[in-house]
Amino acid sequence: MSITVVGSIAYDAVHTPFGSRERMLGGAATHFSLAASLFGTVRPVGPVGGDFADREMAVLRTRGTIVDDVQVVPDGTTFFWAGRYGWDLNSRDTLDTELGVFGEFEPQLSDAARNCDVLFLANIQPTLQASVLDQCTNPRWVGLDSMNFWIDSARRELVEVIERVDCVVLNDDEFRLLTGQASLAAAAREILALGPTAVIAKQGKYGAVLFTSEGFFALPAYPLETVIDPTGAGDAFAGGVAGYIAAQREREVDHTMLSLAMAYGTAVASFNVEEFGTERVARLTLDEVNGRVRDLHRMTQFPHPSPEETLA
Ligand code: AMP
Repeated sequence: MSITVVGSIAYDAVHTPFGSRERMLGGAATHFSLAASLFGTVRPVGPVGGDFADREMAVLRTRGTIVDDVQVVPDGTTFFWAGRYGWDLNSRDTLDTELGVFGEFEPQLSDAARNCDVLFLANIQPTLQASVLDQCTNPRWVGLDSMNFWIDSARRELVEVIERVDCVVLNDDEFRLLTGQASLAAAAREILALGPTAVIAKQGKYGAVLFTSEGFFALPAYPLETVIDPTGAGDAFAGGVAGYIAAQREREVDHTMLSLAMAYGTAVASFNVEEFGTERVARLTLDEVNGRVRDLHRMTQFPHPSPEETLA
């Protein structure tokens, strides 16, 4: 049930139509860890600077997350990202990305982090993702996320890591950018041909879709009346997916398991966007998540068309 994740641990400046935060805890590994900690023991891997406050480290430790592999670089600066969302919260502009301590970081994983059951390579330099993957002994399942920033600046390195993982989780636009394919199905086929057995495309407020050799599955996002800050929704989704898989211990990760894992990811992500940053998921319970998974199950059923009901 142990989960290792490498990815950014950050300070974010975020502007949404509903408010802003100048400096809040963020980062892909942070949002992922908070979500996955609902399901198992999480070890985030990554550096932070001397500016990283104890308060933030305490949030990272939520639900027993082990921070032994978070390296504090006293004279360095924590990764910083600034973004602005438009009225359509599905689109955002990156205003600033400052790698800070990630520029020099060479991961050295603890034995416990190397021996993880599930490994997630969250959004960060592909060379760091590869180094962490190299150090892990034999994870049962490996997932990967990335973003346009890395597709543009380190495409070859990213493709080399993709060839070695079980599942690639990107958003629609990123799949198109990576493959040059206009059709998502064609992009997914291209990624599956590289080696992964599953492709999950995140579609923001429209939900997420899964492609495997066994077929296709689509799940809408949980319907919400209030969305305050979508930052980290993709990472919380991935944390829910990976966490659910970790909780399934020895079982084979097939299409059916991934579709239920997506429901867990969708449910956790829906809480993430209801408040700024990590605020909501930090106090989330598994009971609340189970409730929304049951709702999603109910919402996505429709009757099997019997012969009389099938229109001729
Ligand atoms: P998401 O909204 O799921 O795409 O994730 C947003 C989080 O990713 C923010 O908390 C940022 O700190 C982090 N982030 C933004 N840009 C990058 C990048 N180029 N590499 C790694 N993490 C990033």
